[in-house]
Amino acid sequence: MHKLQTKIIFALSSVMLLLTLVITVASLASFRDFSIRAATEHTRTAAEVIRVALTEAMLNGTIDKRDSLLGRIANVNGLDEARVIRGPQVKQQFGDGLLGEMTADTTDLNVLSSGESVFTLNGGILSPEFRATIPYIATSDGDVNCLLCHNVPENTVLGAVTLTASIEHMKSAAIMTVAFLVIAVGLFAFISILYLRRMLHPLVTTANEIETAVESAIAGDFSHRIESRTNDEIGKIATQFNALSEGITNKLSLIRENVVQLVQSKPDYHGGNLLTETAETVSGLVRVSRFKQAIEEDETAGEVFLRISEVLEQEFNIHTFSLYEVEQNKKMIHPVMIDGVPEAPIHWCDPAIHDHCVGCRAVRTGHLIDGSENTQICRSFSIDAAATNKHYICLPVIESGSVGSVVQLVFDVAEAHKVRNQRPLLEAYLREAAPVLQAKRLMASLRESSLKDAMTGLRNRRFLEEYAETLISQCKRRSVPMTLLMMDLDYFKPVNDTYGHDAGDQVLRELAVILQANVRESDLVVRYGGEEFLIVLLETNAEQAMPVAEKIRGAVESHKFKVGGTSLSKTISAGVADYPNDAQAFWQVLKFADVSLYAAKEGGRNQVVRFHKELWSEDADY
Ligand code: GH3
Ligand code: MG
Ligand code: MG
Repeated sequence: MHKLQTKIIFALSSVMLLLTLVITVASLASFRDFSIRAATEHTRTAAEVIRVALTEAMLNGTIDKRDSLLGRIANVNGLDEARVIRGPQVKQQFGDGLLGEMTADTTDLNVLSSGESVFTLNGGILSPEFRATIPYIATSDGDVNCLLCHNVPENTVLGAVTLTASIEHMKSAAIMTVAFLVIAVGLFAFISILYLRRMLHPLVTTANEIETAVESAIAGDFSHRIESRTNDEIGKIATQFNALSEGITNKLSLIRENVVQLVQSKPDYHGGNLLTETAETVSGLVRVSRFKQAIEEDETAGEVFLRISEVLEQEFNIHTFSLYEVEQNKKMIHPVMIDGVPEAPIHWCDPAIHDHCVGCRAVRTGHLIDGSENTQICRSFSIDAAATNKHYICLPVIESGSVGSVVQLVFDVAEAHKVRNQRPLLEAYLREAAPVLQAKRLMASLRESSLKDAMTGLRNRRFLEEYAETLISQCKRRSVPMTLLMMDLDYFKPVNDTYGHDAGDQVLRELAVILQANVRESDLVVRYGGEEFLIVLLETNAEQAMPVAEKIRGAVESHKFKVGGTSLSKTISAGVADYPNDAQAFWQVLKFADVSLYAAKEGGRNQVVRFHKELWSEDADY
């Protein structure tokens, strides 16, 4: 838990232990050295005392009593044994001497032969004993002339004294000293550790609190605050950490507030990571903004729906859905996209809503319909929710106060939670889509009306100008013919003159109905001029078109136009030319149809003339 504290205390303890060890070893070593030096001096002095005493005894003639002398010396404090041995020359002159003086060990013999002192430490560490074997050298210039009594040359080794002394007391003193040192260092270490613990406590506690706070922050919770315990750097770290958390919390709530405004709904965080989820929502909004740019530059509402469908599939991973377009004035609903398939039949709802858009609850109420809470909420949801485990949410897209389209999401029960979480972002997408869809539809209808003749509801000349090239290239690509019927009412001017302009208009409207009724739905009926009409018969050549033209002529002839209370009979003349037999360019075919119409007029009216080359060459400057 308190790793830092443990580490520091462990390091300090190790240093203290090492220090104790070094002090102990150093103390013992210096004690040993000191003991040896002291013992050496001690024994040298004793050896000299013995030599002087023996010389005295020799001079006084009490040398025979030397044994008790040595015994008494051996009893001197610190000495265990004092033993004198004779060298070979002394033995030769004075005999072997006492028993003790003859027993020589190897060290004695070495000293006798070398004349050098030997100092050794025996008995190991437990009961150390110091031994000194010091030679007596014959000399004539000392306090006593040895050569007066000993018949030996100068510097002859006369004998040696061996002294042993226990240094046990030294060892005890050393142990006492070391023990004292260890206790002193231990006490110092103990006090240091206590002091250090006190010093480290705020650091360790602050560090632990920061650790916990950072862990929570990583999980998106910035509410943890650190207690500032001291006035030093640690206290400052705590204060600054708190300021940082405060700053992040403030900025984050500001971002969240803005996000909430943009999404227009409080995202449901479920105690998840606030930071990550806010960041995700923000990137979602960035995608929404890119989506907006894209759809604004799209050409038709259909393309916008396609993008919504892509968003559902790619971003929200929803593959079962319906996109409906509502035609409020016709009370109809069109399936624009079902499960990603354009213009597929209604699948998830009762198909009856197609002609009765208010059967769709989202259209009727203009509210979100949450079928994940109550699958029975909309009676038009046609799937058995209980059997299939399918739930739904229907989002109305409001365009200027009324429902313009509906996005229906269909999902498994298990996904309900996920879909409900995705809803705010999807709604953000739809909010952006709504005005764009409306604008595209408005544009489309404006365009539609600009290509239509208001009076008859037929296509107008502008339409022809726009689509002429397309029509030809379609025929070319599919290698199919196309016929143009150019028609003009016979003697129409008198209608206006006799019955008035309104009556004339009525005749034109009725004629438009007759024309439309006598061709296929795919054929194009165009009001080309005042009372001139053009019919484009697709996939039909002139030969096949002749009976159609004849049928139209007959229908007009037999029709009774209702004009101001009375009825009126009128006739038409028509000219027929086709692509590709008569000409390959649209305007050329049109010209030939017109030439043929002129010929029909010339030929007495109320007739159909098929174009032939002579008509063109005959009338070259037409
Ligand atoms: P023709 O058999 O030679 O075609 O004789 P016509 O009287 O029909 O002669 P023309 O085609 O030259 O006359 C066209 C007339 O159609 C002139 C114009 O007053 C009338 N007209 C054109 N557009 C309209 C319209 O929108 N409404 C009405 N009421 N009359 C129109
Ligand atoms: Mg005319
Ligand atoms: Mg006319």
